[in-house]
Amino acid sequence: MYEFIIHLADGTDCRVFYNRFPEWKMTALSRLGKVPCPVCRKDFICKCMDKFSDDFDQQMRDGEWLSKAVESE
Ligand SMILES: [Zn+2]
Repeated sequence: MYEFIIHLADGTDCRVFYNRFPEWKMTALSRLGKVPCPVCRKDFICKCMDKFSDDFDQQMRDGEWLSKAVESE
């Protein structure tokens, strides 16, 4: 399992987990609780970021972060 931290422009950090086999697949996504959620403004764990999981997944692929993670092993 691979863990990545995504930094969003509004200061929100999200942690995503991927499984590599049989193909890269996002298995979990959680917002890190340093700043309130940009969607619901709660400062504890919420599910808002789940709606953006497809966007995050696309960013990870566009930025080739997944393949970079493998190279750095
Ligand atoms: Zn929220």
